[in-house]
Amino acid sequence: MRIAVLTSGGDSAGMNAAVRAVVKTGILKGCEVYVVREGYEGLVRGNTEWAEAEGQRVNTSATESVKQEVEINQYQAGSDNVNLLENLRFGDGELLKDGTSEFVGGRTLKGRYIVRVGWDDVRGWFSQGGTLIGTARSMTFKTVEGRRAAAHNLVKEGIDALVVCGGDGSLTGADVFRREWPDLLSNLYETSLITEEQLKKHGHLKIVGLVGSIDNDMSMTDLTIGAPTALHRICEAIDNINSTAYSHSRAFVVEVMGRDCGWLAVLAGVAGGADFVFIPERPPQVPWEDAMCAEIHRHREVGKRKTIVLVAEGAQDADLNPIKAEYVKQVLSERLGLDTRVTTLGHTQRGGRPCALDRILPTLQGVEAVNALLESDESTPSYMIGLHENKIVRVPLMEAVEQTRAVTRAVKAKDYDKALELRGSEFKE
Ligand code: ADP
Repeated sequence: MRIAVLTSGGDSAGMNAAVRAVVKTGILKGCEVYVVREGYEGLVRGNTEWAEAEGQRVNTSATESVKQEVEINQYQAGSDNVNLLENLRFGDGELLKDGTSEFVGGRTLKGRYIVRVGWDDVRGWFSQGGTLIGTARSMTFKTVEGRRAAAHNLVKEGIDALVVCGGDGSLTGADVFRREWPDLLSNLYETSLITEEQLKKHGHLKIVGLVGSIDNDMSMTDLTIGAPTALHRICEAIDNINSTAYSHSRAFVVEVMGRDCGWLAVLAGVAGGADFVFIPERPPQVPWEDAMCAEIHRHREVGKRKTIVLVAEGAQDADLNPIKAEYVKQVLSERLGLDTRVTTLGHTQRGGRPCALDRILPTLQGVEAVNALLESDESTPSYMIGLHENKIVRVPLMEAVEQTRAVTRAVKAKDYDKALELRGSEFKE
């Protein structure tokens, strides 16, 4: 089997450990393993080929829209045990005109987005932050033409199985791709882009999803890859802020990530000792200012010298108006007379070295992803690899994606209990 693995959407700590586990397990089980650089964009772009007949370098990617003049690097696939991406971390990358970085972990690989990798290429990757094979948000893959180009590139490379590590958006894309696959292939055959033999051989694409997201917002899994590290970063940041808050008896309003999910904010509130937390799934009744001030006033009355209020980035009130950190600061300053500052943690929450759990979880899940691919056939659904009550589990990808979408619908309909139940959150109350 030829397996390709890609990371897509927002990067998260632990993605490299996932890629490493897929590569090593795949090789151990006798598969050829490829990495796709820059997420779905790399699938759409594929590999530039040497058009011998014309004697010039052209991009033979299937769509006009992604055509570009790029030089091909002399790349030879070798055996599984040699370092196919030599000097991995020490070369100089180049930046293309469109801002896409043209290297894998430092090695320049112009014009090649689907690259065969060996055992040594992923050595030590478990401790690296972000994703070394690159990620992107691909608008092209959201179009049928883009997905057709992606399908063509996979068939050209002889790849029959795909592991996608990303958030709910990326896994939605994987679900769409898998459902469309037969039509995409028929179309490629009808337009003579693939042969009858290729059509028969690649009639079925095996896809497995790994959930890489700091937000922990995916249904049917207790934890997503990267969420524990992000939570840890937030706790460390609150610890640091606490020193100043205590020394000056100040209030700090800290904005944390999480998109529409309050998991990071709630658990950081518990672990970091916050006085008040705003999350999207438990919007306070309007006006909430009195309730917040009463609570914080009470804490001050019993002798607390510092105040920490956490605001999740998707926080809203019961009328669905966003709650912004700056406004919370204004309320605390004006009504309680507290010397208040705002700290937006931003991308410091996302990057950096993965914590131990974000090395262990993606490693176990990467192994399971390859097992799921090897054991699946046309009759089995595409799986998402999740974690349920401390066990690595396979759940139907389509169902997990659908259930995650249902959470968003429930939040919009203000049915917050339903939203938390559908997400399977740990902080159900
Ligand atoms: P995340 O995976 O972190 O949630 P995004 O929502 O940005 O991030 O999704 C990442 C990529 O997945 C998008 O840029 C796009 O290429 C692909 N994708 C998302 N939704 C779809 C969709 N409905 N159909 C096809 N591709 C999609």
